[in-house]
Amino acid sequence: MKMTDVRADIPAKYKWDLTEIYADDAQFEADFSRAKAAISDYPKHEATIAQSAAGLYAALSDYTELMLLVGRLYIYAHLNSDTDKSDNKNLAIYGRAVNLLNEAQAATFFIVPSIIKIDDDKICGWYKEEPRLLSFARVIELARRRRPYTLSDECEKLLADISNSLDSHSRIQSIFEDADLRFGTIIDENGKKVRLTDATYVMYLMNKNRRVRRAAFKKLYETYDQFGNTFASLMDAYVREKVSLAKIRGYESSLHASVFEDEVTPEIYNNLIKTINENLDVLYSYYDLKREMLGLSALHLYDIYAPLVGSIDKEYTFEEATDITINALRILGDDYATTLEDGIKNGGWVDVFPNRGKRGGAYSSGTYGTKPYILLNYTSQFDDVFTLAHEAGHSMHSYYSHKNNEPQNSEYTIFVAEVASTVNELLLARKMLREAQSDDEKLYILNQIMETYKGTLYRQTMFAEFERDMHEMSAGGQPLTKELLCNKYYEIVKRYFGKRVVCDREIAFEWMRIPHFYMNFYVYKYATCISAASSIVKKIEERGEEYIAKYLKFLSLGGSMSPLDSLAVAEIDLTKPDVIKDAIDDFEAAIKQFREIAGSKQK
Ligand SMILES: [Zn+2]
Repeated sequence: MKMTDVRADIPAKYKWDLTEIYADDAQFEADFSRAKAAISDYPKHEATIAQSAAGLYAALSDYTELMLLVGRLYIYAHLNSDTDKSDNKNLAIYGRAVNLLNEAQAATFFIVPSIIKIDDDKICGWYKEEPRLLSFARVIELARRRRPYTLSDECEKLLADISNSLDSHSRIQSIFEDADLRFGTIIDENGKKVRLTDATYVMYLMNKNRRVRRAAFKKLYETYDQFGNTFASLMDAYVREKVSLAKIRGYESSLHASVFEDEVTPEIYNNLIKTINENLDVLYSYYDLKREMLGLSALHLYDIYAPLVGSIDKEYTFEEATDITINALRILGDDYATTLEDGIKNGGWVDVFPNRGKRGGAYSSGTYGTKPYILLNYTSQFDDVFTLAHEAGHSMHSYYSHKNNEPQNSEYTIFVAEVASTVNELLLARKMLREAQSDDEKLYILNQIMETYKGTLYRQTMFAEFERDMHEMSAGGQPLTKELLCNKYYEIVKRYFGKRVVCDREIAFEWMRIPHFYMNFYVYKYATCISAASSIVKKIEERGEEYIAKYLKFLSLGGSMSPLDSLAVAEIDLTKPDVIKDAIDDFEAAIKQFREIAGSKQK
């Protein structure tokens, strides 16, 4: 189907239905006024929240109601404005919703500090006195676990006052990299002089022409090398800030302070790094395969992204993609499959096609009481089918979380956020692999699987290791200089690529261009999520219904338990190597299968 790019001309069945949130502007405005009034009324709770069971209950239930209202307004404005970024009316409404959210947060800021100050004995008594408080037990617990790391009122105020000027390093890094750095030019495969940018770099690294890949690699890092001292000072300042803040609050380390926010322990972080290091030979065998397939005598770092397989030129209508996805996920049971199918086909969950002014990419979004909406920019490609399955995973996780919990316990945490989406992608890949009609199709899918494990499991763990070591060196009093960081990074990269890959020295500068190092121990979550997902898929396939019930239970827990407790319901324990080993085994199996099919093709 050839699509128009004018939104109004796209049939309604391919657009999400936001009328269930607000049928018209008047309804939005009515709720907006109600929210405004509730926000200005809220500070009255400050005097009573820590005084009695009734006071605490009133403050928490009013807060929940306020945030439901604000969340609804915000989601409506945000989804609407994403369908056409050039629409000024949408943009204005979105701006108002963002301000409203900020106002709501400011007006309710005292909740956590007030709950922290209530005595333990008192809280226990209050649960008996006002049993309705029990439905807020997790909210209360989440506030109170901060107690050991909370400072006096004066210190907290001081930290809040300077918080605006903290955390500026990532902004400086990205401005420097995007606006100021110039990488010069290279000669492309057609002999044409082309400008190298951070974005085109990735494209040139995937070029079939080795000379182009090498030129892009050398040129890019030549530039980073020149500014290495600036990048190092920036990194040094950033890490020192995180180390100091952790120390001020009494955390064991900056790593501890960061994983505390996710209700995770450093043990899980370290277990990931340890297990991956014990299984680097699987990654080495992937690079062996790559070298052989590319017909190279030596694999350099600029060969790593060279394509192993061609693209698949099959096209899929959105209806076909929906059916393929539903069929792949049918294993999760009737309720899962029919809910999703109905949501996509008749429920107005999905905004399918690109149109002029629409935001790019894809996401799943919604709030308690709305549909779990999905934004796509569907172009009928093979990868678009996977994007649908991925976002459907997020949406079904939200659907079950919202359906089975009270609003205050309904939002799952960031630590488990990519589990359900990755499970769906893996289930789809395996089904498509089983049903693939040609060797080329099989190789394409296997290549996707291998790339995912290489990029998400191994590479992110490599980053996590560098990040941990950087913070440890800084906490130990070592200034993070260009030399120190480059040597450290090179040592780790060399280990992850192994002796059979030529580890070009320029890679020592790569840390300078990774924005995630300014995200305070974020990247390990990519690796733990794919490990959990891989292990879940293995259990689904091996154990069938009996296990699937546990997985669905996990999806329905929302935020009612800590992420580790909810994963335990699905028998996922990230403190031990097993779960990570499941992902490594799956990676190894894909390498083996790729080798077999590619080998028999050559004969
Ligand atoms: Zn996702």
